[in-house]
Amino acid sequence: MAQVTTKPTGRFAPSPSGRMHMGNLWSCLLAWLSARSAGGRMVLRLEDLDPDRCRREYCDQVMRDLEWLGLDWDGEPVWQSRRTEAYAEAFRTLEERGLLYPCYCTRAERLAASAPHRSDGLQVYDGRCARLTAEEREGLEKSRRPAWRASVPEKSISFCDLLYGNYSEDLKKDCGDFIVRRSDGVYAYQLAVVVDDAMMGVTQVVRGSDLLSSTPRQLWLQEALGLSHPEYGHLPLLLSSEGRRLAKRDRDLELGELQRQYAAPEIVGALACAAHLIDRPEAITPQELLPLFSWAKLPREDLVWHMW
Ligand code: GLU
Repeated sequence: MAQVTTKPTGRFAPSPSGRMHMGNLWSCLLAWLSARSAGGRMVLRLEDLDPDRCRREYCDQVMRDLEWLGLDWDGEPVWQSRRTEAYAEAFRTLEERGLLYPCYCTRAERLAASAPHRSDGLQVYDGRCARLTAEEREGLEKSRRPAWRASVPEKSISFCDLLYGNYSEDLKKDCGDFIVRRSDGVYAYQLAVVVDDAMMGVTQVVRGSDLLSSTPRQLWLQEALGLSHPEYGHLPLLLSSEGRRLAKRDRDLELGELQRQYAAPEIVGALACAAHLIDRPEAITPQELLPLFSWAKLPREDLVWHMW
């Protein structure tokens, strides 16, 4: 159940694995408008969990880019790379509750042990490592470090999305037992995000609809850890002209490139027009958009992105 609150606390949660692109700005702008237009707070978390992909300079750049656009936040940013102890504690709680098991599958085995790809690319693990005998585990332990999976129940989890309405997923069937800690010891996004949203007092999560199907897992983890549920609003995705989801490799839509051609209010105006908050893509600041924001105006269909 979504927490009832008149003044939400929203959040920016960028992954600093490169320069931000239009898709990231889209989520950040709408998350900010949603929280601030309701008189709420906005907090910033740098999701730099993966040491192989995230760099300090990208974190600094993300903060400069948000400021450049006119998006502000309250308090000090939270860095996931500094929160390992909090994730370890949540991990121990889940373990004590008998909700975790080690998984020794290699990547290739994991793929083989998974149901065919869902449309969002998620593979449903068949749970084979949950059925290992103590002896088999011991044998495997000698050759590999395991990843750890959460053992999900056969249970349908539903929530009401601010934009898409009712959404539900049968965790066992649609998602399967998912990884909460990788074999290299790095905690997984699903666990970290739940622990951090709770610690930061986040009551409203606004993000791309590519994460819609992660939400039931996060709701379930919140329940297992005794944390309250934020409300969720997912956004349609911005697509490249070839119909692909925007990615960091779409260099022409990356902020560094756009900044050479446009002023911040022009970029904000283009995003606001795509969000149906203004009729024409004219220059406007996030502040000026505050009275114009409403979830009821936002489109639900993914959008092919173009500047005017
Ligand atoms: N860090 C994720 C991203 O940049 C967002 C995660 C979330 O909003 O829960 O795509």
